[in-house]
Amino acid sequence: MEQEAIKTFFSTELLGWYRLIKRDLPWRKNRDPYRVWVSEIMLQQTRVDTVIPYYNQFMDKFPSVTALANAPETEVLKSWEGLGYYSRARNLQAGAKEVAQRYGGIVPDDKAAVAGLKGVGPYTSGAIMSIAFNRPEPAVDGNVMRVLSRYFCLEDDIAKPSTRIGIEKLAASLIPEGAAGDFNQALMELGALVCTPKSPSCLPCPVMEHCAARLSGRETELPIKTKAKPPRAEFRAAAIVAGSGEHADKVLVRQRPATGLLAQMWELPHLELPKDKAEWLSEASPKEQGELAEMISRMVETDTGLLIRPRSWFTDADHIFSHIHWKMRFYLADLGEERSASEDVAAAASSLIGLTAAEAASAYKVDSQAEEAEVIGTYRWISKSDMETLPFPNLFLRILKQYWE
Ligand code: SF4
Repeated sequence: MEQEAIKTFFSTELLGWYRLIKRDLPWRKNRDPYRVWVSEIMLQQTRVDTVIPYYNQFMDKFPSVTALANAPETEVLKSWEGLGYYSRARNLQAGAKEVAQRYGGIVPDDKAAVAGLKGVGPYTSGAIMSIAFNRPEPAVDGNVMRVLSRYFCLEDDIAKPSTRIGIEKLAASLIPEGAAGDFNQALMELGALVCTPKSPSCLPCPVMEHCAARLSGRETELPIKTKAKPPRAEFRAAAIVAGSGEHADKVLVRQRPATGLLAQMWELPHLELPKDKAEWLSEASPKEQGELAEMISRMVETDTGLLIRPRSWFTDADHIFSHIHWKMRFYLADLGEERSASEDVAAAASSLIGLTAAEAASAYKVDSQAEEAEVIGTYRWISKSDMETLPFPNLFLRILKQYWE
């Protein structure tokens, strides 16, 4: 069969299949570009089943570009809590503000304008232009690269930008006239449901008859993708500081800076251990555990003036970002009593390592005073109910829930 006929077969069969089986997903109720935009951002690196409830509550809360543009950032982050990759939410809101200011709250039917919005890359702009406006733009993500690499038996490394550009051209040439939106969604649907990464279901596949990878038995070998570098490990120790007195039943949390990783989200206070101390989290001598307790105490004291006393191990947890792997140990800690800081840290060391108070006191010395406050810089005492309004990354949400349970 001629190459052109193989392409036509692919487009026709795929489109026909999609129109028969397409899933009833909330963002497919209509072609409102704002709804398409939100769904495409949420679906990046996240499964459809996970996205559905988030999408529904997000659209209830922010039903229009203007509603999203005018919402406080904390509320937007709170609605995103648990989905991860929070810069997506911040960029989405920044894009909504731009659409509100420059285009009167209406997403423009203009490729360059859509592609210029914050957080909108070539895939998302292609998805919005094709699904919402039926423009013949390709929308190529990992799913689409996998399907086309297999169907056409392409051996280029899909991790390379040049391969993506080549596949975008190929995908554009496959779009049937007047059916860009459905065709792009059909490609995504095939990648998600049939031509899956590890075990493609070739038998029920609508394009199996001319799929070059299947015909040559190479469907699980393709696509070729060089492995990304594994995320860099960071070892961190965190404190769950229980309040007392007027802060009884509360826990000390802090807000992350306005820029960078997990910007503006809330977390338990924690610090990164120097590389040569990383093994402290798995195996530490009593003296080292005491030093760790001191480091945590000093961090909180420096930031807030509060004296705390790490009391005992609570749990270990991991969190993997795209480029960093946090390996964390959480300690329960109490507020120090009205006494000198050196006594307090010594008590902390003593409680963790079983040194006598006198031994610990001579080993660890600090000299500032404790002072409690409701809000201390970026730190704050929160009760369980405050978690309903403050946005936390999944990791800390999980640990705090576990703590309060
Ligand atoms: S036949 Fe198999 S490998 Fe080819 S596109 Fe279909 S599911 Fe993928």
